[in-house]
Amino acid sequence: MRYIDRDEIARRLTYERCIPIVREAMIAFSTGETKQLLRAILPLSEGRMFGVMPGALGAHKPFGAKILSVFKDNGLKGKQSHQGVVLLFEPDGGEPVCLLHAGEITAIRTAAASAVATDVLARKDAKRLTILGTGEQALTHARAISKVRKLDTLVVWGRSSENARKFADEIGDELNIETVVAPTTRVAVVDADIVCTVTSSLEPILEGKWLRTGAHINLVGSSYAGPVEVDNDTVTRTRFFVDSREGVIAQGAEFLNAKKAGLIGDDHIVGEIGEVLAGKVEGRRSAEEITAYKSLGHIVQDLASAWALYVEND
Ligand code: NDP
Repeated sequence: MRYIDRDEIARRLTYERCIPIVREAMIAFSTGETKQLLRAILPLSEGRMFGVMPGALGAHKPFGAKILSVFKDNGLKGKQSHQGVVLLFEPDGGEPVCLLHAGEITAIRTAAASAVATDVLARKDAKRLTILGTGEQALTHARAISKVRKLDTLVVWGRSSENARKFADEIGDELNIETVVAPTTRVAVVDADIVCTVTSSLEPILEGKWLRTGAHINLVGSSYAGPVEVDNDTVTRTRFFVDSREGVIAQGAEFLNAKKAGLIGDDHIVGEIGEVLAGKVEGRRSAEEITAYKSLGHIVQDLASAWALYVEND
């Protein structure tokens, strides 16, 4: 069986390639063409989880699963937070044909999904991006969002100002963009056109009242019912979109907190991003509205990326 390693994925799964793949996958997801089970998460111990995400790109299309560990403190050890494999099956004989490095696919496809959402929901003239967090997703999000908007400033906040400075310098050079390190999350977001929350924080680090008129926010760091990166206000005052309605109602921590507080019902979810992309649900309605995209991450994003890497020779 073929194995596609981390370096090969980093080299071949470019954002130019991955963003359209994820866009199509999310449309297929929302039309019901793809099939998937809600991810199963086995908590091992505090901050250490084992997850299994099975799915199929369609009834007669490739299928498979992502099998991975998510260890909270891996970043401190210089390791990826997500470790594991994507196992791909071909649809004709049902044979397993390829294993792929899951950490690298996850890092890239998650940012590509946020870029897809940003492209369809953020103001066209959005040019100031704020990233909260300085880890792997911070890096991939800066790269991906820069592909869908002409950015002039990247603002970075990290709980370690040293890490924030280092990340800002490196990404600023790479993207040839002006970077600013913000001392607090409030300062980081008040002027932002686009915000990405990509931390492993368990508690809110952002208050909705700080978001400026017309902003768009991607909520990425919490991917199961537990950790929350933002307060209830962020949820209630935004026009709220999700990758999967079923997924967020079951596992979207910020959404569930606001719902538990009696502030919103399930109808607060305006639509899935795939429905917006297909023109079935209206996205942003004005330059003033604040939009949010809650990302939990989906196996169809991994499988579609994996299949492209497996079948396309380049
Ligand atoms: P990394 O470990 O590479 O980075 C984590 C970042 O979060 C670091 O900047 C870290 O800061 C920061 N952080 C940790 N704890 C806190 C805290 N209490 N307050 C503020 N910042 C904190 O992880 P990744 O970049 O790979 O992933 C980031 C998050 O995104 C994770 O929670 C991960 O589970 C989630 N994720 C979500 C996906 C989705 O599809 N929605 C997919 C993949 C990941 P420091 O450097 O100081 O430790």
